[in-house]
Amino acid sequence: MKIIKEINRENLELVKKEILNDNLVIFPTETVYGIGANALKSEAVSKIFEVKTRALNNPLIVHLKSKDEISKYATILNLVEQKLIDSFMPGPFTIILKKKDIIPNCVSANLDTVGIRIPINKIAHEFLEYVDVPIAAPSANISSRPSGTKVEDIKDEFEGKVNYIIDGGESKIGLESTVVKVIDNVPTILRPGFITKEDIENVIGTCNVSPHVLSEIKDNTKAESPGMLYKHYAPRTKCLLVYSNNLDKLKTLVKENMTSKTIILASSRLENIDCYKYISYGNTLEEISHNIFSKLRECDKYNADLIIIEGVKKEGLGLAIMNRLIRTSNFNYKEL
Ligand code: AMP
Ligand code: MG
Repeated sequence: MKIIKEINRENLELVKKEILNDNLVIFPTETVYGIGANALKSEAVSKIFEVKTRALNNPLIVHLKSKDEISKYATILNLVEQKLIDSFMPGPFTIILKKKDIIPNCVSANLDTVGIRIPINKIAHEFLEYVDVPIAAPSANISSRPSGTKVEDIKDEFEGKVNYIIDGGESKIGLESTVVKVIDNVPTILRPGFITKEDIENVIGTCNVSPHVLSEIKDNTKAESPGMLYKHYAPRTKCLLVYSNNLDKLKTLVKENMTSKTIILASSRLENIDCYKYISYGNTLEEISHNIFSKLRECDKYNADLIIIEGVKKEGLGLAIMNRLIRTSNFNYKEL
């Protein structure tokens, strides 16, 4: 595996060849690292599912170099879709559009729609521009594990399976893109992210949030976004997510559930509780979003038997953080 530190012509040529040979390249974006393949080739795309052990019914997002490319691969059906594209792309935003036949069915898991994203990260953009094919890319992690937000966290997972990783440092945002589908002319958030419900309402007026964002899907046929069906974002150690807007109640929740080998993964509000190990995940929503996946991976290093994670208010970027942490904890969630 070669870790590419410098984006120059020679290295771009290497990764372009790799993609055109139907192989995988890991690349940085502003959200998380992606594991990419030529979205026009089923043979290439199938390697993503194989290497990640990803369920075949979990569709991939197609990454493009610019907005002009969208109409080659998808159809914009209405003004709401157009306005979302104009307002939030390029950026940490994925829009679900009607798929054109040129995109193989394995990319969209046989749905007639496809997720389209245009990253704003400079390296991602240079990569997409240079390879000049659409890149299907999910997050760079083995399925069910926390997404990769820095190269050191993920390189071992893909050793021998992926030949090139482009190192762009730590992902700025740290959580995956906001996934939005326009349903009956109303934008609906299927997966929350850095672009919030409030951001979308400011532009369009209304925005719905799928009820499955914070709840478990019991009936598979009801999954608008198949990715929400799976255990996700999880370290190997068992997790419990706790939340209260009252600090005393929050501390009670932590103490009542603590074992002798519990890690507390939280803001500085909980740093003085006597426990096996305290790990700070930051104090602002931006810091938590940036740190969370890497910190979850770090927790696995301490041989603990439980991680108690402090939840946040389910508003703004907090909704995206809670969407991930509820799945991290496999719906093991307590609120007081
Ligand atoms: P990942 O790339 O691993 O961050 O996950 C992509 C997310 O986008 C998953 O939750 C998918 O279910 C969702 N997604 C991708 N394509 C579609 C689509 N055509 N319709 C609905 N959800 C989609
Ligand atoms: Mg993922």
